[in-house]
Amino acid sequence: MLNPPNFRLEGEIAVVTGGGSGIGRAVALAFAAAGAQVVVLDARAAAASEVAEEIGISGHALTVDVTDGDAIERSFADISRRYGHIDVLFNNAGINRRQPSLEMALADWNAVIAVNMTGMFICARAAVRHMVPGGRIVNTASMLGLSGGWYPNIAYQATKGAVVNMTRSWAVEWAPRKIRVNAVAPGPVRTPFIAALTDQPDLVAQLEQLTPLRRLAEVEDITGPVLFLASSASAMVTGHILPVDGGMLAQ
Ligand code: NAD
Repeated sequence: MLNPPNFRLEGEIAVVTGGGSGIGRAVALAFAAAGAQVVVLDARAAAASEVAEEIGISGHALTVDVTDGDAIERSFADISRRYGHIDVLFNNAGINRRQPSLEMALADWNAVIAVNMTGMFICARAAVRHMVPGGRIVNTASMLGLSGGWYPNIAYQATKGAVVNMTRSWAVEWAPRKIRVNAVAPGPVRTPFIAALTDQPDLVAQLEQLTPLRRLAEVEDITGPVLFLASSASAMVTGHILPVDGGMLAQ
């Protein structure tokens, strides 16, 4: 008899950073539906609480900024004390400040690096300290970490490229601990993150034209790929970057 693939996270402990909105919110709901206890971590208290309430009994809100190394270490230790250990980290909080390189203030560059790159590093190692063999990390990279893109977005693209290679490095570094590390690399997804873009019908039409599947992604398009990488259905997959981009990068 063959064992069927298992996409469930029954009784597991999952932490979702940036869980208060967009992709993080959708994945937090999907993890809970798959049977996990979900810690919804976000810098915005109200957003984290709303999503935890939406999840119900297996949702728990946690307000922390991913750039605060000490607070994240303390928070992950608290989670581990409360639940025994951590099974899954969806390392997803991210921001963007988009300017042409020649005009970009250093403060904006540093802000993007702090959240998208250093924040991912802080959360990944804080989680791994409390993971047992079989733990899994899914990082949110971006299609823009795998391509040069088509508009000025230097800090964001630098950090998402870093997420791609941190994913590969950690996959190798933590394989002896039997911890798998993978990433999703979404194309444009309709969330508040790209509201300035989706508010412009001409830009949306252009992007749809550039996408072989001819539409932008919805958050529901991202949950399945993340759940695949977070579950034992992908037990032999580590160090992989999974584009969820409607075929954009295939061109
Ligand atoms: P979003 O703005 O809807 O949600 C991001 C969440 O992260 C917010 O709730 C925000 O409060 C939280 N956050 C930001 N900084 C934080 C910090 N320092 N500490 C803790 N929480 C913080 O955005 P989204 O579209 O859901 O983006 C989630 C991830 O997906 C990001 O890493 C983003 O780069 C990536 N991504 C988004 C798209 C897209 O088109 N929406 C495409 C590719 C990748």
